[in-house]
Amino acid sequence: MADIQLPSQKRIPRLGLGTWYMGENKSQRQQEVAALRFGIEYGAKLIDTAEMYGEGEAELITGEAMRGYRDNLYLVSKFYPHHAGRKQVITACERSLRRLNTDHLDLYLLHWRGSVPFAETLEALYQLREQGKIVDYGVSNLDLDDMQEWCDADQLSLCATNQVLYNLKRREADYALKPFMDSKQISLMAYCPLDQGHLLQHPVLRQLAERHDATTAQIALAWLLAQKGVIAIPKSTHLERVKENLDAAELLLTQDDLHLLNEAFPQPKSARDAQLQMR
Ligand code: NDP
Repeated sequence: MADIQLPSQKRIPRLGLGTWYMGENKSQRQQEVAALRFGIEYGAKLIDTAEMYGEGEAELITGEAMRGYRDNLYLVSKFYPHHAGRKQVITACERSLRRLNTDHLDLYLLHWRGSVPFAETLEALYQLREQGKIVDYGVSNLDLDDMQEWCDADQLSLCATNQVLYNLKRREADYALKPFMDSKQISLMAYCPLDQGHLLQHPVLRQLAERHDATTAQIALAWLLAQKGVIAIPKSTHLERVKENLDAAELLLTQDDLHLLNEAFPQPKSARDAQLQMR
């Protein structure tokens, strides 16, 4: 499975580990560190986290899990929209670096749109790039209008990704957002790739899982990895599921499988359809 080339010419791995909800419950901490550590040792190349997750705790857990492995990893974190001002982005990044026990992030994302003008946030991201504290920057949860506005404001045209809700059941991005991003070489980082587990009982997924001697989670992830420019970041705190999810990289769906999935989970055909699905 080839990495994706970003506008900066750097490359980003296509399958990684999510960390949402980690760090929220002290009694789970050891299990969370162990799951991430196992994933890294099993070959995961990307970790996605955010200052929001557990209010910094998920970054601490990530930092602990990746100790000794930083150089093998592509590290993504996100800052709050209320930290998107020129000075706040810099200090938020420095706090994240300390928690993650690293000197740079590979990718730093605006978590969702707030009230700070994009041009101001971008100035701070350029500065962090020049200082070597981040390699690439991007956004999350931007719809088409916001994405276009971000690209217009970005004088370097180096937006690496838009991290959005995207899975077989939630294909709103297919209507207009993803085609626009593809035209700019902006990758789509799919969050909730398993629809937080809700997808996994679907009969068509079960049928294909049986056909491939795989699991339904692996079929859902293989579908994402069959989409051009898409990165998937499933989260699990169970070792066997982490392994299962990473093994999905080996699973190649046939044209027939993809056709079946497209019929069971059709992409929106109009803006109205895309909006209806959002609810
Ligand atoms: P996912 O679609 O990755 O699903 C996670 C849930 O599925 C957990 O309950 C997990 O349980 C379960 N699960 C994981 N693997 C399996 C498996 N193989 N079989 C059965 N169940 C499984 O949802 P997330 O919301 O976690 O999204 C992934 C990541 O995306 C997040 O962790 C975060 O990093 C990012 N994200 C970003 C957002 C944004 O606004 N930018 C919003 C949401 C997520 P268990 O842990 O018990 O195994």
